[in-house]
Amino acid sequence: MHEMSLCEGILGVLQQQAKQQNYQRVKTVFLEIGALAGVEPDALRFSFDVVMQGTLAEQARLEILLVPGEAWCLGCGTAVTVQQLYDACPNCGSFQLQISDGQQMRIKELEVE
Ligand SMILES: [Zn+2]
Repeated sequence: MHEMSLCEGILGVLQQQAKQQNYQRVKTVFLEIGALAGVEPDALRFSFDVVMQGTLAEQARLEILLVPGEAWCLGCGTAVTVQQLYDACPNCGSFQLQISDGQQMRIKELEVE
């Protein structure tokens, strides 16, 4: 399950930030996940609780902000919303889509004390 290693990556960032910004505890993690990032929110929540046990983020709440997938269609020259990677264009059925948004996973905001 690659959500586990994603959470370990998040923990690494939290620990690094804690040193820089001098906080003791993370209360909430606002995580932005693109619809095309290939991340399963439920699996991520589960992994988050497991990975954060015994760390500065043990009691932290995970808030997931889903970002829709967006692409530019070369077939019809329109910006379209896509649900999955390799979907066809909803307008013209072309597969020549250039993904412009929705593949990211990043920490948007932290609530700490
Ligand atoms: Zn199109």
